Amino acid sequence: MPYDLESQTALAAVRQAAAVCQAVQQRLVRPETLAKKDKSPVTVADFASQAVVCAALEKAFPDDPVVGEEDAHELRQSDQAALRNIVVDHVRNDLGAHIDDDQVLGWIDRGGASGGASAERCWTLDPIDGTKGFLRGRGDQYAIALALLERGQVVLGVLGCPNLPFPNANGQTIGTLMIAVRGQGVQMQPLLAQAPPPGVVRAELQAHVDQLSDPADPAARFCESVESGHSDQSASATLAALLGITHEPLRMDSQAKYAAVARGDASIYLRLPVSAKYREKIWDHAAGAIIVAEAGGRVTDVHGQPLDFSIGRTLANNQGIIATNSALHHRVVAAVAAAALKK
Ligand code: AMP
Ligand code: MG
Repeated sequence: MPYDLESQTALAAVRQAAAVCQAVQQRLVRPETLAKKDKSPVTVADFASQAVVCAALEKAFPDDPVVGEEDAHELRQSDQAALRNIVVDHVRNDLGAHIDDDQVLGWIDRGGASGGASAERCWTLDPIDGTKGFLRGRGDQYAIALALLERGQVVLGVLGCPNLPFPNANGQTIGTLMIAVRGQGVQMQPLLAQAPPPGVVRAELQAHVDQLSDPADPAARFCESVESGHSDQSASATLAALLGITHEPLRMDSQAKYAAVARGDASIYLRLPVSAKYREKIWDHAAGAIIVAEAGGRVTDVHGQPLDFSIGRTLANNQGIIATNSALHHRVVAAVAAAALKK
């Protein structure tokens, strides 16, 4: 199978990073955290998660660059020793007591690549996507997102969503891990249960988008960010009314929204720009976009243009996101144009 080593490495790395994020959440996120607007737990988890994933990538593919959200500049400052110690402790808990500070800082700094079409191969990582959901706790969504690009094209994506219920898990929330490889569809695994042996794919664990072709179907629903600062919620309400969508929006943080479309929990993901200047980051979309595409869906920007991952760290040629089950795509893009919702 093509990309076998890449798939196994990415799945194992995202599983490990998810375990680190959960340990940080259990230890550090308290009701007071939210009340005080204290972001330190997510800072710790962001750095520790990036270190763990970059360590795994370095071991398997030492020559591959990584475009990650974080770098260790802040963590290297002498007044950041306390934060650095907590991060290193969490990485040690996961990777072993022999790990030292310099290794951890070095792994985090592996995420500093710039990507773009000239990179033969490059990974992109969001060590915790949906930090607001992580900080709220209460089972809100967040994700560890890792994708492989070849000359600016996404060829593999993994999403680890610790709070996205796994289907048929008998009511237990054991999280969902999804992987897409170009041309090979999408497989789902329970995130926190034992990994299946390599190469084992069970048909019922393949993810597919839904088949709805009429947005006015009472079952049609769209998902969007919880944060109104990341996606224009009043514009999406206008658009939903235009399309005849009656369902309340499914609001969730992180790329779990792409996972929701990929497995038919929602038919549409709308990310309508709140500002004309903002450019989406590649690590916020690469894994999710290939997962929806390989599940049979379509992903473009709000103008109906394909996402262009070949520019560098941002989707500089795109604005916003529309992801659908394919069947609804044209109607949603046309409705956005008609409503002149584009910023
Ligand atoms: P979500 O959980 O879908 O709301 O998205 C979280 C991501 O939104 C973060 O990883 C940020 O990179 C990104 N973000 C930050 N500011 C904006 C903005 N103004 N518009 C769109 N996305 C943003
Ligand atoms: Mg993010």
